[in-house]
Amino acid sequence: MSDQLSLMAVYAHPDDEQGVSGSLAKYARQGVNTTLICATRGEVGEIAPGVQATPETLGQVREGEMRCAAAKIGLRHLYFLDYRDSGMVGTPENDDRRNLHQASLMEVTEKVVRIVREQKPQVMVTFDAWGGYGHPDHIQIHKAALMAFWMAGDARIFPEQLTNGLQAWTPQKLYFNVWPRSRYARFAEYLEREGKEIPEWLANFGARATPEDVISTRIEVAEFAKLKLESLQCHASQLGPNTIFRQIPQELWLDMVKQETMILAESRTGRVSDETDLFEGIT
Ligand SMILES: [Zn+2]
Repeated sequence: MSDQLSLMAVYAHPDDEQGVSGSLAKYARQGVNTTLICATRGEVGEIAPGVQATPETLGQVREGEMRCAAAKIGLRHLYFLDYRDSGMVGTPENDDRRNLHQASLMEVTEKVVRIVREQKPQVMVTFDAWGGYGHPDHIQIHKAALMAFWMAGDARIFPEQLTNGLQAWTPQKLYFNVWPRSRYARFAEYLEREGKEIPEWLANFGARATPEDVISTRIEVAEFAKLKLESLQCHASQLGPNTIFRQIPQELWLDMVKQETMILAESRTGRVSDETDLFEGIT
């Protein structure tokens, strides 16, 4: 593959990229220009025991963890949009005016459009409209990525960006990275076998997971599973005892992540099903 191919993932927090970290690594190895937008530094949330961080330093620590993960997967460009993590609905952080969820959607979109015009991705990847599990930052960045997909190629939109050689750019495909029901089922089966209770959040998660026949695109990343593991381990402050990763044996985890699953949501190259390459159909 040539240097001109470009893949961009658009996410909200450090570790969100894990759903596509194998694909990013795989295409980076093939010489594709890979970019990750991480809109916040994940300033809010529990700090895993044993990690040197305080609520005041957490953003800085998680930026470092994100850079560690990016280096593992060979990512070429990492952009932070400098919003604050909004936390979950119902928490006080959710009302902070500096957070992603409170920001103007057009302002966030403008930032994403600028990076699209800089990095010229044919393929973009982001969350689905439910943000995977309803996190308000995930939903906000999903909307901004979707709008940027349609707007970046129109020179009438944000024309003030078009200086110093920056030009309008039209991406060809937009994917939503999703978790298939089968993956939840395997996790639930494991817990059952071990005589452990299935937590309520997992049951809810599973109920909303994507049915297999809706998934259009499966990327084989078995050879990058170890690398995915290493990049996940960079996010040490997020790997508390309640995370999925800490509750299953490493072998099972490695087996569960050997395929990354997407829905081709928007396309200028036509409809597909049963794809195994994000760049299929791109000329
Ligand atoms: Zn997130």
